[in-house]
Amino acid sequence: MHQFVAGRRREAATSERHDVVDPATGLTVETVALAGPAEVDAAVSAARSAFPEWSGAAPVERAAVLTRLAAVLEDRAEDMARLESRQTGKPIRLSSGFDVPGTIDNVAFFAGAARNLEGRAAAEYSGDHTSLVRREAIGVVGSIAPWNYPLQMAAWKVLPAIAAGNTIVLKPAELTPLTALLFAELATEAGLPDGVLNVVSGTGPVAGEALVTHPEVDMVSFTGSSGVGRRVMTLAAAGPKRVHLELGGKAPFVVFDDADLEAAVQGAVAAALINTGQDCTAATRAYVQRPLYDAFVSGVADVMDTVRLGDPFDPTTDQGPLISGRQQERVAGFVERARAAGAKIVRGGAVPGGALARGAYYEPTLVTGAAQRSEIVQDEVFGPVLVVLPFDSDDQGIELANDTPYGLAASAWTRDVFRSLRAMRQIRAGCVWLNDHIPIISEMPHGGYKASGFGKDMSLYSFDEYTNVKHVMYDTTGAARKQWHRTIFSS
Ligand code: NAD
Repeated sequence: MHQFVAGRRREAATSERHDVVDPATGLTVETVALAGPAEVDAAVSAARSAFPEWSGAAPVERAAVLTRLAAVLEDRAEDMARLESRQTGKPIRLSSGFDVPGTIDNVAFFAGAARNLEGRAAAEYSGDHTSLVRREAIGVVGSIAPWNYPLQMAAWKVLPAIAAGNTIVLKPAELTPLTALLFAELATEAGLPDGVLNVVSGTGPVAGEALVTHPEVDMVSFTGSSGVGRRVMTLAAAGPKRVHLELGGKAPFVVFDDADLEAAVQGAVAAALINTGQDCTAATRAYVQRPLYDAFVSGVADVMDTVRLGDPFDPTTDQGPLISGRQQERVAGFVERARAAGAKIVRGGAVPGGALARGAYYEPTLVTGAAQRSEIVQDEVFGPVLVVLPFDSDDQGIELANDTPYGLAASAWTRDVFRSLRAMRQIRAGCVWLNDHIPIISEMPHGGYKASGFGKDMSLYSFDEYTNVKHVMYDTTGAARKQWHRTIFSS
């Protein structure tokens, strides 16, 4: 049963089915009956019914549930990591060392944050009134999540929303609903009241659109591709309802000629291949200042040669498969078109054979000689592919870094403090790393500029998305005729 509504699992009453497939083997993990509009409607009404009590609960009560959830997740961490690796193919080292502990840390962070939701206690700005600002939950949030980090993306959507007193209907990606369902079940076990968190497993065009357009959904929070984000925003405009969009990325990795070459090489391979490159902040375009260019390319090629592809459950595996055969074709298509256009495939660029042929594997791939305007440099490939291009002046490096529609994340590599300060200021992205690329942390915001969307996940900034700000004004005079009535009454 793959719908979670009002505190329990249910079966969808539809005939549509979807197989959740282990991309490492091609074998079906579970068959899901997909939610249709009726399932979405039931989930939204459960969330609507739970809203008055949950939004009225004292912050400490919401915090207590989240604190218990962190403990329950600790107990089930291994099961959760195995399930995540099973449905995504990501190496168990990644799911048990990053996805699951990152999620637990997020839960713990929002347990504390739930008690720090502040309005501003203020002053007599008009002279005759005391003003104060309240932060209030918005209502029912409809959230839609992608497949690349199914558990973490579910947590990023759910936690700030419920910590602030909203209730939520989450639609995970149809390829990977299993850990979001387990998360909801464990939240109920931890004492989350029924209906506060509901999960509908269904496709984007059916369940996703039913959720976005549902009249009882007050806000839509979406993480996924920029194309679908545009569609979601268009649909939400009819409300109109508040929209929070975390979209695609095409992160540049800018290496200046004074950088620590070895650190940049190691960093580029790790940041390009994490999660088989299916990471919205993955390093995808390395721009290397001319004096370091050749050494950087050969260093990256050498490190890529050491990356072990294999069974996600083997602890020595570095890189697992892509999410699906379809994604494998998409990645291969980008590389083949780049090759046809004259780019050089220095490493990889192929589907491995042998025992890996039954999975959706793709070799770590290093591309040089691509044109800045070409699709492999401009568009999201979402696979283990790094393009390296040279630059001459510092200004050119920054210009190239900014030269795509995206603006989610970026990094700059230099030992010069002035260069790093310039890069920090001039690169237009929601996160800029200096001499590293990828780390995230619950206390700090994550979100994009430009076509990468707007609004923030994680951190106290996420409360700006999930709360309304209300101004309350108290008259302090007690007078029947207020000062400002002079503008209305002549005598
Ligand atoms: P996607 O846009 O194809 O799908 C994302 C979600 O939207 C899925 O749940 C899908 O079912 C749903 N969806 C699809 N069509 C829909 C529609 N018409 N209406 C409503 N919902 C619909 O993205 P994906 O392939 O699952 O994930 C990869 C993308 O997510 C990449 O672009 C990646 O960069 C992005 N991403 C961004 C962040 C971030 O924080 N900015 C984080 C992770 C992933």
